[in-house]
Amino acid sequence: MIWNREAECAEPADRTRVQLARLMETIEWARARVPFHRDRLDTPAPARLEDLATLPFMRKSDLREHYPFGLFAVPQSEIARIHASSGTKGKPTVVGYTRDDLGVWAEVMARAMVAAGCRPGDLLHVAFGYGLFTGGLGFHHGAERIGMTVVPASSGQTARHGLLLQDFRPAGMCATPSFALHVAEAMRAAGLAPDACGLRYAMFGAEPWTDGLRRALESAFGCPAYDTYGLSEIIGPGVAGECEARDGLHVADDHFLPEIIDPGSGAPLPPGREGELVLTTLTKRALPMIRYRTGDLTAVVPGPCRCGRTSVRIRRIRARADDMLIVRGVNLFPSEVEATLLAIDDLAPHYRLVLDRRETLARLQVEVEPVPGLASAALDALRGRVTERLRGALGLSVHVTLAAPGTIPRSEGKAVRVIERAGSDILEAGTSPGRNDTP
Ligand SMILES: [Zn+2]
Repeated sequence: MIWNREAECAEPADRTRVQLARLMETIEWARARVPFHRDRLDTPAPARLEDLATLPFMRKSDLREHYPFGLFAVPQSEIARIHASSGTKGKPTVVGYTRDDLGVWAEVMARAMVAAGCRPGDLLHVAFGYGLFTGGLGFHHGAERIGMTVVPASSGQTARHGLLLQDFRPAGMCATPSFALHVAEAMRAAGLAPDACGLRYAMFGAEPWTDGLRRALESAFGCPAYDTYGLSEIIGPGVAGECEARDGLHVADDHFLPEIIDPGSGAPLPPGREGELVLTTLTKRALPMIRYRTGDLTAVVPGPCRCGRTSVRIRRIRARADDMLIVRGVNLFPSEVEATLLAIDDLAPHYRLVLDRRETLARLQVEVEPVPGLASAALDALRGRVTERLRGALGLSVHVTLAAPGTIPRSEGKAVRVIERAGSDILEAGTSPGRNDTP
C-alpha cells in the first residue's frame, strides 16, 4: 500500500516541475511577508532547482535571534498551533503552523507511516511525548489521517506502557529507540513478554540510532523496526521514513526539498557522498524555511527503490554535526561508539559516555552494561575486548567501565548519552545523539 501514489511515485520530470513551482512560490511568500527573508533573498527567484544553491543558508541561530515569532509569515491569529524545542542552551526554538500546514503534516506522516506498515483500522501505541515536542502529536494526527485507532500513551510512566502493550495488543508502536528499549526491559522485569504482544511493526525516531540498536529492538519486540526522520524546524516527524525495503528513508520531497552539502565549504555534494542535510520547505505557510542547515549527516541514496516510490531517499542519519566530540584531537560521534558496542556479544544495549575535561588531556570513559548473569572471570575478558574494539574503531584509547546491569540511567524520552565534566562540576549533560526537542 502506498498512501499517495500520485505524489510518491511521480515521474521525475513531473516532480521537478512541482518542486520548482512550489519553490518559487515559497520564496515569493517569504520575501513578501518576513523582513528577515526580504533582506536576504534580494535576488531574482531561482529559474532552476540548481539555482537554490546560490541562496544563503538558514541556521538554528536565526530562529533564536527572532524568538519567538519573528520569522512567522502570517499573523498570530492565523497560527493554528505552536510547538517548541526544549532549548537546552537558552531559549527554545519556536515553530508555528497554519491550519493548512497541519494538514500537510498529517499527510506526510501518513505517507511515512503507511510505508512502515500502518494500515487503516490498525491500533497504534504512541509512546512519543505529547506537548511542545512534535513527536507525539505528529504521529497522532498521521494515524488519525490514515484511519487508525490511536492510543496516545505519551512518554514516561514506563510500567504502564507494558500493561497497555500486553492488554491492547496494538499492531504498531512508535517511540524514541532508547525509551522503547527501556519499556521492553521493564516489561521483562515484570514478567511480561514484549515480543509476544503481537506487534507487526515499530517506528522509531527523534534520536540517531544504529543498526545494532535496530537489531536489539527487533529482537525485543519481535517485529521489524522502521526509521523515521524529521525536525520541528521543518515540520516535525514525517520529513522522511523507511519503506519495507529499508534501504534509505524516502523524503516527502514535494514538500521538503533536500540538499547535501559539504559542512565546511557549504558546496553541494553529489548523490552517494555524505554531508550535511539542508532542507527547504515547499508548502509551509506559517514558517517557511529556506536552505535550513539541519546539522544531520547523511547522503542521498542513488538509484531507484524497489518499493516503487520515486521520491529521493537519504541514508539513516549517521550523526549530528553538533554532537561531534573532540577528544585528544580525535573527532568522534557517540553513534560510532554505539555501533561498536552493539556489535560485541555479552553487552546489553545500555551505555553512556563520560568526557572528563578536568585534566589537560581530556579522558573519555565509556560506561556499558554486560548482559545479566556473566561470571566475574568473564567480565575481565569482556572489558578487555570492549577496550580493544573501541581503540580499533575510534583510533583512541578509552577507559571502559562495566556497570552493574540496570544501573546506567534509562531514557524516559530522549537518551542522555554524553556527560561532560569540566572543573569540579558537570558542565553539561547533552541530549546527544538526538534532536534538541524534549519528548
Ligand atoms: Zn522504497
